[in-house]
Amino acid sequence: MSGGPVRVAEISLPAIRRNVLRIRELVAGGGGAAVIAVVKANGYGHGAVDAARAALEGGASMLGVADQAEALALRAAGIDAPVLCWLHGADADFERAVAERIEIAVSRPAQLEAVADAARRAGVAATVQFKVETGLSRGGAAPVDWRPLFARGVELEHEGLVRVRGIFSHLSGTSPEHDLAQAARFDEAVALLRAAGCEPELVHLAASAATFSLPQLHYTAVRVGISVYGLSPFDDRDSAALGLTPAMTLRSEVVAVRRVPAGAGVSYGFTHVADRETALALVPVGYADGLPRALSSTDLTVVIGGRRYPVVGRVSMDQIVVDVGDAPVSLGDPVVLFGDPASGAPAVEEWARRAGTINYEIVTGIGGRVTRTAVDR
Ligand SMILES: *Cc1c(COP(=O)(O)O)cnc(C)c1O
Repeated sequence: MSGGPVRVAEISLPAIRRNVLRIRELVAGGGGAAVIAVVKANGYGHGAVDAARAALEGGASMLGVADQAEALALRAAGIDAPVLCWLHGADADFERAVAERIEIAVSRPAQLEAVADAARRAGVAATVQFKVETGLSRGGAAPVDWRPLFARGVELEHEGLVRVRGIFSHLSGTSPEHDLAQAARFDEAVALLRAAGCEPELVHLAASAATFSLPQLHYTAVRVGISVYGLSPFDDRDSAALGLTPAMTLRSEVVAVRRVPAGAGVSYGFTHVADRETALALVPVGYADGLPRALSSTDLTVVIGGRRYPVVGRVSMDQIVVDVGDAPVSLGDPVVLFGDPASGAPAVEEWARRAGTINYEIVTGIGGRVTRTAVDR
């Protein structure tokens, strides 16, 4: 051990397994859609490899990531399950990914040629899924490219260079009406692909939000990220309301306790001044660790010894100050910054709301000094 202070993101593997199981129950109707667990951005900050293994154990049949590098890291860790990656550099070379049987999302005719070329060099047929743009105005093949792209895909299939396994798109989540309009455009793309002579095995549109709110959009697979980690994609429904268990608990310890008189200024700029004699506990987690500085002076609380205490004064790079009053708080006491509210921990959404952001950004923003520890109990 380094002797550094305790800063731990504890990841519950059983929670991830249970969340995937919950999602599988949700999509079990109508033939039972497959679950593609998204583990991009280091598994939303939870550790991609641990999250991937737990999600597969929970019944996910495929993994999704943004970058090829993320996909290759899963293979390097010995994960053999199907992996799809969908965000490529302008001039990406797909040879290693093809050789490692990574499935490649294709959004442009030139990208399809690059994949075919990689397959030729690797001596292995590449598995691709077409990503189509249906209204989000981000990635994906434009409707004018659909016909030529699908026709070329089928041609390359006949040449044995490519296997077209799926087609997908991504929703804006603006409203059910907007999402259903995207689904209608998606249906046109799927029909065109079938007309071109390809029957896609994986047809997927829903991420977490539509998986929970628009069951008619489950198709043959759902592509879920935030809900795998037990967090809600909605503003107005929390984890418990969705039957999910937050998998990450952010823990630290008290590294100093100091009594101060009334009138003592606390932390930079003295934005807080003690209004009475009190005790202040120092907790070594700051904005470098992913606790946004925007949470300064927002009545944020942390849990020490089963009770909540307010964070006072500015959040600094490495630490926060907690007003513990006359409570029996001592050096070394464990601190819970967020976790599963069912266990009494503050919800990560308490941070997100105060920082004007979403739970996604908080968990993916946990910093490099925080140790990730997977627990299996
Ligand atoms: C990140 C991502 C997802 C997962 O979204 P959640 O809201 O976390 O479920 C699904 N599909 C694509 C294309 C993504 O980029």
